[in-house]
Parts: sequence; structure tokens; C-alpha cells
Amino acid sequence: PPARKPRGRLFFANPGPTNIPDSVLLACAHNSVDFNDDDFFALYADCVAGLKRVLKTRQEVFLYTASGHGAWEASLVNLFSPGDRLLMLETGYFSEGWAQMARDLGLAVQTVAADWRRGVEMAAVRAALAADRAHAIKGVCAVHNETSTGLMLPVEEVRAALDETGHPALLLADTISSLASFDFRMDEWRVDVAVGGSQKGLMLPTGFSFTAVSEKAMAAHREARLPRHYFNWTNMLGRRHRSFVGTVPIALFYGLKESLRLIEEEGLDQVFARHARLARAVRACVQRWSGNDGPRLFCTNPARCSDSVTTVLMPPGHDAEAVRRTALQRFNVSTGGGLGRLGGQVFRIGHLGDLNEPMVIGTLGAVEMALRLNGVPHAPGGVEAALGSLTDSARG
Ligand code: PLP
Repeated sequence: PPARKPRGRLFFANPGPTNIPDSVLLACAHNSVDFNDDDFFALYADCVAGLKRVLKTRQEVFLYTASGHGAWEASLVNLFSPGDRLLMLETGYFSEGWAQMARDLGLAVQTVAADWRRGVEMAAVRAALAADRAHAIKGVCAVHNETSTGLMLPVEEVRAALDETGHPALLLADTISSLASFDFRMDEWRVDVAVGGSQKGLMLPTGFSFTAVSEKAMAAHREARLPRHYFNWTNMLGRRHRSFVGTVPIALFYGLKESLRLIEEEGLDQVFARHARLARAVRACVQRWSGNDGPRLFCTNPARCSDSVTTVLMPPGHDAEAVRRTALQRFNVSTGGGLGRLGGQVFRIGHLGDLNEPMVIGTLGAVEMALRLNGVPHAPGGVEAALGSLTDSARG
């Protein structure tokens, strides 16, 4: 029989792309204008200023018509020369992807290995930096929020490790699934390059990404010799928009202006507080399920559990994809799948962007029903635990 199409609104609990607020969608529905017209340029300049406020930076921001991978590539080709060494802090699927890109571009990658469920040890980061007396390591790459595992990495502690060891390497941070969901401070933490994208905390369609770049990184850029063209910062500086080699994705900027307005109307700190309380509720639910050998938090290090995505590890012998399929096909709830080597073993509940309490409860309820329908052992009362957590948060 043809698949039944569930009615009602799709509950989108993917860790990116994320829900797009109606007012942002409407704002994006804008006809073409000349991107060099003064009216558009004024809106564009407002957007870039707003992005800097979210990044907490006064540095240059370069934007690209590309998804996050494009901004990753921009961060590498603009800063380094063939054979340069990077220190990649292992976090999961995305640190592996960034490392592979670096190798493909002709860079040497040294990895600080980590348990994906506990997160990298800062002592190991310090040891790797201290051992590099010749300062062969030119850049340290940190994924602020590893979207595959649901662990965050305290970038400020990576900065401290560089300072304590007196290591001059550039600090690169991937903020793709942390920005506008939990705190990131480019200038205070002296991050040299921050990589971000449109489709997660900024609540926009996929379509542009960006890098904020410190003066130290700009100096490195002037010496760097990897080939580059589409992402070349020097070329961009010569353009009126100081970004985009080619046509500016105009519609997304009408959307960005509105999403920045929403974020600043709520207040960045309130946005972070909302993400924190929704994340606590999701974790309370999963922790309850984990009784009776049920699904459990992939993250085993409470200090590192992410406020934007929770990765749920299935009990052995149970397929995460079956649970996801049931949630989607029966209840119209879309969760994220396991990436790379985690495929089938985990599913991911995204709780970032335009989300509130009933949306989270609806998602958790659908997942709990999907666990029952698939015969996955779990302790009852997960949704009840989330309700308790959210009620406690609401009482303040
Ligand atoms: N880095 C992180 C942490 C991500 O979550 C993602 C995408 O989910 C990427 C990089 C790659 O970004 P994109 O898929 O936009 O190319």
C-alpha cells in the first residue's frame, strides 16, 4: 500500500537545517534587486554588523555562497601553505571531515585523539602543544559543537592551553551548530577564525556560510600559499561587499535581517537560556529511558553535553533507523540519523533554533511511542521527566 502521509505539522527536530520562523520565511520571499543598489547595500551592512554582534567580534567577516563546508575550505586555503601542520582536536564525524579536507588540500594533520563520548582531554591538548617546541603546528582546529555526538568543546580552554604553552598557532573554531544557541566569544577568547553557517542557530535556509577573521589570521593570510580563488579573502576585500566572489544571495539577507531581529528581540542571553532549558529536558527524558537497558545519552561527560543537540545511543541489537522511520512515517517527527561510524547506532534530537517547550515535548512523545512500537526496551516516564524539568525551569 502507498505510504500513509501523516497529517499535521512536521515536527522538525533535526540538528540542522532547523525550523525557519514564519516571519523569516516571508522575509526571504523577496524579488530580485541589484545587490549593488544602495538600499540593498544598507540592509546588507546591517546584517554583517548583526552577525558580528552574535559572534561577539569586531573583526572582518567574509561570507560565501556555500554551505559550511565552503567556510571550512575558506579557513584552510586562506591561512596555510602546502605541507603546513594542523592540530585537529578529535570530536567526531565533523572533526574527521575537516581533517580529511585539510589532507586533501595538501596539509599535514596531527590529531589529538579523544573518546567521542567524553570529549577531548585538555591535558592532551596542552601536551601536544608543549611537545611542539619547533612550532611546526600552524593552526589548532576545534569544533565548538560536534553535531554528530552531541558534545561541546570549550574553545576558551583551548585558548588557555595555547596561552599556557606559549604556542603561537592560529585558533580555528567551527561554530556551525553552536552559534546563536550557546555562548561563543570570538574576541574575548581570541579565536582567529570562526566558521559559521546559515541553517542552524540563525534559523535560515541553507545557502551561505561565513568566517570571522582576526588581524593575526589576516597577517597569516598574506603569507599563505595554498591555491585559492572562489574563497580568496584578498579578492573579497577589493569588493564593495567585502565578501562573495560572484552574485550575493540577496533573498537570504532579507531573511537574515529578520532572524537577527528575532534573536535580538529575545536577547542573546535569553536565547542561550532557552536552549539550555530545552536541552536539560531532553536529557532528563533520555536518562529516564535509559533504565531497563534502554537508549542512553551518547555523552557520558555532563560538563560537555551539548545544549543544541542530544545524541541518543540505542541498546545493542536495536536499529536507530527503525525508530527514526516510525517517528517520521507515523507521527511526522523528523529526527537526525547517526553519521559515519555511528550510523544505525544512534539518533539525534536537534533542539536548536526556533523551538519551544511544546515542540520538544511533542518530539519526545513521538520518539517514546516509536520506541514502544519497535519493541525497544526502555524505562517508562521519559516524557514525564521532561515535563518535570521544564516545569522546574518555568518556575525559575
Ligand atoms: N561542522 C559542523 C559542526 C556541522 O554540524 C556541519 C553540518 O552539519 C558542518 C560542519 C558542515 O556544514 P554544511 O553541511 O553546511 O556544509
